Amino acid sequence: RGGVAIGDAVLDLSQIIDSLDGVAQVAAQAASGNSLNAFMAMGAEAWSVLRLALSRGLRSGSTHESGWRQALITQSDIEHSLPVKIGDYTDFYTSIHHASNVGKLFRPDQPLMPNYQWVPIGYHGRASSIVVSGTDVHRPQAQLKAPTDDVPKLAPSQKLDYELEIGAYIGVGNALGDAIALDDYLAHVFGLCLLNDWSARDVQAWEYQPLGPFLSKNFASSVSPWVVTMEALLPYFAAWSRAADEPQPLAYLDSAVHRTTGALQIDLEVALQTEAMRASDAWSSVSRSNYRDAYWTLAQMVAHHTINGCNLQTGDLLGSGTQSGPTLDQAGALIELTANGKNPITLSNGETRAFLQDGDAVKMTAFCAAEGHARIGFGSVVGRILEAK
Ligand code: MN
Repeated sequence: RGGVAIGDAVLDLSQIIDSLDGVAQVAAQAASGNSLNAFMAMGAEAWSVLRLALSRGLRSGSTHESGWRQALITQSDIEHSLPVKIGDYTDFYTSIHHASNVGKLFRPDQPLMPNYQWVPIGYHGRASSIVVSGTDVHRPQAQLKAPTDDVPKLAPSQKLDYELEIGAYIGVGNALGDAIALDDYLAHVFGLCLLNDWSARDVQAWEYQPLGPFLSKNFASSVSPWVVTMEALLPYFAAWSRAADEPQPLAYLDSAVHRTTGALQIDLEVALQTEAMRASDAWSSVSRSNYRDAYWTLAQMVAHHTINGCNLQTGDLLGSGTQSGPTLDQAGALIELTANGKNPITLSNGETRAFLQDGDAVKMTAFCAAEGHARIGFGSVVGRILEAK
């Protein structure tokens, strides 16, 4: 059931329904089922009404103060499940730094495909294997073929990687045949989460042409249990621009409003924990980046996804693609940090990693902070790799 994180506690929405009224009560009821979908489908006005009612009720001196105290549960006593029943999952590729870094490894002569600066590239992923943070992931097996091999073999991936991504949940869809205009995306996007798009690079290298990733991606993707609503993120919207010497977006991907507020400033971080670090619960930070460096924005992802009339639906998940920053230490995947395994990174305890080993855990965290505004934490998405089945 739905809950709202406040400090180190969670407000259990199912326990406060009777103390609300009107739209806020209907919304809290809708958010108290085993997914948030019914609440998400109610639309932006209901999201806002419930948020305001909760904000007022949680203030010190509120008439609900003593009653709602009973509905607070300590976060460490919570067991998380997927917050949303996810229908379709689409993964984009919106960091030009990631696209260029990976492109250099696979196509040194043409790192960036000519369509990249015109099209927000994406592919349709798999929703059934999306798991909540804390779920262990078995190393996948699939066909592998090194350039030096004559024929492929079936074996566990030896180049298992993570991808640091922002996930966006669709609250209100669009009718089949209609498009969502760039400036209307906030009426459709409910909120954001953290997404780890686990990726088997050796599988990917062999299978990806001509139709894109398949078994290299669809064995598991992990999401954080919390959803940060778009309204909460408004203070962190930022100006968006395209350098004058680069192709300017087609009209359906450009607007004055988007130029003013299209980007989002979210600090992102990835940390690893090896089996040896687990006893002391130590983590080794491996990269930091910021979502504002994305080449294509969330609004552009939504507008592009629907420009051909494709209908988004309540519960759909859109992934941003790996969020790498302009410098190599800001890369959101090991394939970039290690140049496809050639230059292993050194962790805080002296161990090195080219790709993930069995027993390794990956933790992604994010926050927004700015002078004069409340700091917003995204929580984390954590997953540990177990040996192949
Ligand atoms: Mn991805």
